[in-house]
Amino acid sequence: MEVYKFGGASVKDAPGVINLAAIVASQEQKELLIVVSAMGKITNKLEELTHAYLEQQDNTNQLLEEVKAFHFNILTDLFSDQNDQVYNDIANSFVEVEWLLEEEPNDAPDYIYDQIVSIGEIVSTKIVAAYLKKTGCNVTWADARNFIHTDNTYREGRVNWEKTEQEIFRKLVPLLEQTIVVTQGFIGSTSENFTTTLGRDGSDYSAAIFSACLNASSLTIWKDVPGVLNADPKWFDETERIPRLSYHDAIELAYYGATIIHPKTIKPLQNKNIPLYVRSFLDPVAEGTDITSADNHLPVPSFIFKVNQALISIFPKDFSFIIEENLSDIFSLFHKHKVKINTMLNSAISFSVSFDHDPAKLAALIADLSVHYKVKYNTGLELVTIRYYNQQTIDRVTVNKNIILEVKSRTTCQIVMRDKIITE
Ligand code: ASP
Ligand code: MG
Repeated sequence: MEVYKFGGASVKDAPGVINLAAIVASQEQKELLIVVSAMGKITNKLEELTHAYLEQQDNTNQLLEEVKAFHFNILTDLFSDQNDQVYNDIANSFVEVEWLLEEEPNDAPDYIYDQIVSIGEIVSTKIVAAYLKKTGCNVTWADARNFIHTDNTYREGRVNWEKTEQEIFRKLVPLLEQTIVVTQGFIGSTSENFTTTLGRDGSDYSAAIFSACLNASSLTIWKDVPGVLNADPKWFDETERIPRLSYHDAIELAYYGATIIHPKTIKPLQNKNIPLYVRSFLDPVAEGTDITSADNHLPVPSFIFKVNQALISIFPKDFSFIIEENLSDIFSLFHKHKVKINTMLNSAISFSVSFDHDPAKLAALIADLSVHYKVKYNTGLELVTIRYYNQQTIDRVTVNKNIILEVKSRTTCQIVMRDKIITE
């Protein structure tokens, strides 16, 4: 039993769906669960739609029409018979959202977000399943909300593992014995059957949950890159593919912001010792990256860049020591404002933290902190994390930069920096 995960980039258009079907066709003898994300950048578009609806903007319907048109265009490329059942199916899938948009937005925004944004995965999987069926594949569409059970934390549902495992065992295992199954990443449901999402880019995590509960022999994530690289080609000219990676290094890289795999993906796989294969959907037979329990020390230093960082330094007004007396208070404020810390460093009487800059969150956090602390902050910074660093790698990334904060452990170096202002 294997699990495949296809992300938005792999199904961004009709040729993408056709390519997915070709990959699946070459594996059809396998017991296979296919987990699919929303197509292309549709989740961003649905976020925009949610925002417009919450603000009651006039372009709300226009945005929904764009989302529909995007999917119907793909359908016309895939299904020449305009009477194909799939056209009705997709139209019906939008009905619930249409009803929701007709009402005033009275529910909690995060709840509304999940009810709207989840439609991307519902529709993408319906299209993929219908196309696989058309090409002769023995396939069944399944609703992930029947399997992935979460609490009521909308936009970041926390998985109820016991119930999820039970339902997967009871309903999905028998189904997979008969057919290939296509289901959604990213979404789950509460005990009252309301839709939740698992956080942006959460489809990898969904695939890992399914893999763990099914005791799959492997999970393959199909990407638009040849595997895990030692840096993002967006920032680096020369990148190298890492052929083999340990779970431990993979967790560390994902945690520090390597966007190739969602950080929550590795743990469930590691617990069950299930290998994760990262492969290119553009070249499906090429080697990619194998992530396993083997102790494969990263062969080259790896770099992770994050831009748009804010750095704040916090000082107790009464000159008390930061650690003993204040840290739990400070952390609870970060938690309250849902600010995720990227780097931190403390001295006797100050504590410095960098995080992704979100102006509204930063202002609210500083307002709360300022009650008891003096706060200084900087924005527009970059953060680079180097795993298996040495001086040469540090020098390489800090050319023409002012280093503002540097934190080193035995294996990992993090540098918060900004461009040097060069005056002639
Ligand atoms: N479609 C969701 C997102 O774009 C989940 C995913 O792609 O993994 O965030
Ligand atoms: Mg996506």
